Amino acid sequence: MNGFSVEPEDLKLCQVAACERVIRSGRYVLGSEVLNFEKNWADLCQANYAVAVANGMDAIEISLRALNISCGDEVITTTMTAFATVLAIIRAGAVPVLADIDLKTANMSLDSAKRCISSKTKAIILVHLYGQISNMDDWLDLVEQENITLIEDCAQSHLAEWKGKKSGTFGRVSAFSFYPTKNLGALGDGGALITSSPEIYSHALSLRNYGQTNRYIHEKLGLNSRMDEIQAAILSERLKYLKSFIERRIQIASEYFEYISNPVIELLKPQFNEHSHVYHLFVIRTNHRDELKKYLDTMQIESFIHYPIPVHKQNITANLMTDPEGLRNAEAHANACLSIPCHPQMTDDEVKYVIKAINAFNI
Ligand SMILES: *Cc1c(COP(=O)(O)O)cnc(C)c1O
Repeated sequence: MNGFSVEPEDLKLCQVAACERVIRSGRYVLGSEVLNFEKNWADLCQANYAVAVANGMDAIEISLRALNISCGDEVITTTMTAFATVLAIIRAGAVPVLADIDLKTANMSLDSAKRCISSKTKAIILVHLYGQISNMDDWLDLVEQENITLIEDCAQSHLAEWKGKKSGTFGRVSAFSFYPTKNLGALGDGGALITSSPEIYSHALSLRNYGQTNRYIHEKLGLNSRMDEIQAAILSERLKYLKSFIERRIQIASEYFEYISNPVIELLKPQFNEHSHVYHLFVIRTNHRDELKKYLDTMQIESFIHYPIPVHKQNITANLMTDPEGLRNAEAHANACLSIPCHPQMTDDEVKYVIKAINAFNI
């Protein structure tokens, strides 16, 4: 069940045409394809500006640096995330502080984040894990009360909605990844940040390109984090399919919720309305995770663990600051979670096959 090999033929042809268009244009980095994609992505996300960059991790680093968050500033995020979220904070020169998760969603726990706040806290990076947007009313209240900047890591939550507003429009600046497996993926690396602030926008434009303001004028020490024209052209073609692909993910998830009924399997029910979760991943929990994974392997059903080792359990980041009460929910989740197939190219028969296999699992 490899999603990419069975994508619509039309989409493949459009991508080939997009590559040809770029090759014939003679412009390969930061040209009209990138500008066009940035405009469309900002519009679709209901933001004023998008800045396309090389990958999702850079999008987070540039977001922090565009906000002038660096040396000594503390940034709270969840320990249950892609390592890139925390690495970007460190790369920006800031100090990560790791919060625990809420077991209902596996997203960062509000109470735990509160315990992580100190006089040095400058920002919270909220990760909408697996594609599920958090209760934004709570987070917006918290950052306003505490005078903290909110940044969203939307690498898994493209177009997820909270009360009609898109993920990425709640933070001062928000980061996306277009790594191939994400809900919107390029055919290589890509990322973007969105913002409605003209100052952050122009700061980020300069940071992604060596800190140049005008050609050969360097006013900041930036990165080389530019998007290729080919990736922007590919993304523009794939963007046309994004909504229908998300609808299919939501449909598969609703089948799973309706028909998976094995008592040893715990489903993580969506907390809010239908589009608050875009199912980048469909994650279940069980105390018999390793046995289930082996069993699914024998049935030729691919499954993954997101994530087996929380950031605070990695050797290299074991000394980071954390919630003083510990990160026990994240540790329990890491031992029990399993991501089962959920991608837009799955056929109805494949979905039924997965449901049947999981219901037949016993230990
Ligand atoms: C994928 C991902 C990233 C990093 O994106 P890259 O494009 O791989 O650098 C950051 N945060 C989260 C939550 C992710 O899933």
